Amino acid sequence: MTTVQEDRGLRELAERAGRDLEDASATEVLAWAAETFGKEFCVTSSMEDAVVAHLASRVFPGVDVVFLDTGYHFEETIGTRDAVEAVMDVNVITLTPRQSVAEQDAEYGPRLHDRDPDLCCALRKVKPLEEGLAGYRAWATGLRRDESPTRANTPVVGWDEKRRKVKVSPIARWTQDDVDAYVAEHGVLTNPLLTDGYASVGCAPCTRRVAPGEDARAGRWAGLGKTECGLHG
Ligand code: SF4
Repeated sequence: MTTVQEDRGLRELAERAGRDLEDASATEVLAWAAETFGKEFCVTSSMEDAVVAHLASRVFPGVDVVFLDTGYHFEETIGTRDAVEAVMDVNVITLTPRQSVAEQDAEYGPRLHDRDPDLCCALRKVKPLEEGLAGYRAWATGLRRDESPTRANTPVVGWDEKRRKVKVSPIARWTQDDVDAYVAEHGVLTNPLLTDGYASVGCAPCTRRVAPGEDARAGRWAGLGKTECGLHG
């Protein structure tokens, strides 16, 4: 358990780094995080692509890459996780919810994701990540400002008040074109669904293909009035 004083110090460190590193490259941001936090730093990945994991592995070989297995993923997502584990110099850590899907169905009824997606995400994403990040002081995400209005102000380094951690978003300033260029240049693993009509990949029951020209995240929780799972709120 961190103390209030330690939290304040970490918060100030994060806010200062956010200002100092605003114009730094993704590699420089990750190098700062690795140097500052060492093994108390991890990367999280939804396995939509392995761009941040790849960037991090170049500055911090063997870095922990945390993946949240909700039990509702497409098999392509699990396959991407397995491929990342097999070919990249990273340590993949898979987190799972306390309840299996069957146990959740027994307690809350089937298809909770259709009736109360906020509760389903809280049980299968938010809580497991909170527990999984307990041993770290900083975590990295693949958030980008151009993904949605809710992400437009994402700092490259900021303070995650909910989890009391430093939150690093090394590709916050990247565009989709930047991501595509990096993937092409380095042959980075991507989820096969990205070339099958899915612009953003989440849990299977809550993700659909998008039409050409449609917003990339329009296929997430379509019709449910929800745009974020709560991990980044
Ligand atoms: Fe449940 Fe859907 Fe959230 Fe996955 S994205 S945890 S299935 S509500």
